[in-house]
Amino acid sequence: MAAILPPAMLGILGGGQLGRMFTVAAKTMGYRVTVLDPDPQAPAAAYADVHLAAPYNDPVALQTLASTCAAVTTEFENVDAEAMRWLGDRVPVSPSADCVAIAQDRIAEKAWINQAGLPTAPYQVIRTEGDLDADLSACLPGVLKTARLGYDGKGQARVATVEEARAAFAAMGKAACVLEKRLDLKTEISAIVTRVSHAQMAVFPVAENHHAHGILDVSIVPARVDPPLAALAQLMATRLADALDYVGVLAVEFFVLEDGSLVVNEMAPRPHNSGHYTLDACLTDQFQQQVRAMCGLLPGRTDLLSPVVMVNLLGDVWKEDGAEPNWSVLMEAPNAHLHLYGKAQARPGRKMGHFTVLSAKVDDALEQAEALKDTL
Ligand code: ADP
Ligand code: MG
Repeated sequence: MAAILPPAMLGILGGGQLGRMFTVAAKTMGYRVTVLDPDPQAPAAAYADVHLAAPYNDPVALQTLASTCAAVTTEFENVDAEAMRWLGDRVPVSPSADCVAIAQDRIAEKAWINQAGLPTAPYQVIRTEGDLDADLSACLPGVLKTARLGYDGKGQARVATVEEARAAFAAMGKAACVLEKRLDLKTEISAIVTRVSHAQMAVFPVAENHHAHGILDVSIVPARVDPPLAALAQLMATRLADALDYVGVLAVEFFVLEDGSLVVNEMAPRPHNSGHYTLDACLTDQFQQQVRAMCGLLPGRTDLLSPVVMVNLLGDVWKEDGAEPNWSVLMEAPNAHLHLYGKAQARPGRKMGHFTVLSAKVDDALEQAEALKDTL
């Protein structure tokens, strides 16, 4: 396809913080943006040229995207794959509906990861109560995860025994699940690849990720792992993207086990929270890459310009009376960058923003980031 150039109109399904940062990147490059998001207050709406406030499968809204946009992408995996297929028949859509359908279903996702020759945690598909009668010893103690609609640790239960697995399956409404062995993690890392074709790929430096209550808390770049291990994660991410014939930005999460081996946890067919550091610390950021890939342009260079630490700001940081955190110290730090997503309501666990700290030594950046968070 011929490259799509500014001031073409680009469409995105979803107008949350990822859609907002995509919109800013696209607008900065001179594109126009149409956002489809039912929420009238969607964070991306503040920047978009057009906000279609309608359900994701609304025929009129989809028709508008198809007839006014040069290309369409998505900010999240839980879009209606059928709606994406319908769009894909009319306008270039990346990633493809097929790739999004795989990423939104843990069962298909794990099968694809294994098929690409990459390791996952031992797992068993649990579709019915009868599946819990099988020998599950290889997956216990484990984590029962719903196949669909899980995020930020939601739709998951830690189970030690078959009895606990049965109770958790019932509590999840007997929705299709995977039972996954609980692994001893040394740490977690992620690799984000931008792929236009086999010959046109770029991978960002690997991030080391720390979670709190199932939600990403801090990303540290460069990851404090052996460089060959980080290189292997990058290679695995490109291999997975190739296996899927993926077009767009693909984030791959990994577990680093106590014995130093690497296991793929899951993937996201879009820019990722653990890639927000690229906004401030890379030659090209992950949202610029999303724009470039959907427009058929070469991925930009991913050089890390400085060690960096990213800290998520959840609604928990806001005061109980709704008052803002005290931003003064953070805003005066000359090597820190605050990003707020423009969400009116702060709720516990809600991603409201993030900040980064850049420093010549990653340990110094981490120490300073932790100290800055304490001032909020
Ligand atoms: P989500 O879609 O919510 O991000 P994940 O499968 O990535 O779901 O799980 C969230 C976090 O829970 C992981 O980043 C990891 O810290 C922990 N976790 C998930 N599965 C396992 C496992 N099999 N063994 C150990 N920890 C796990
Ligand atoms: Mg995850």
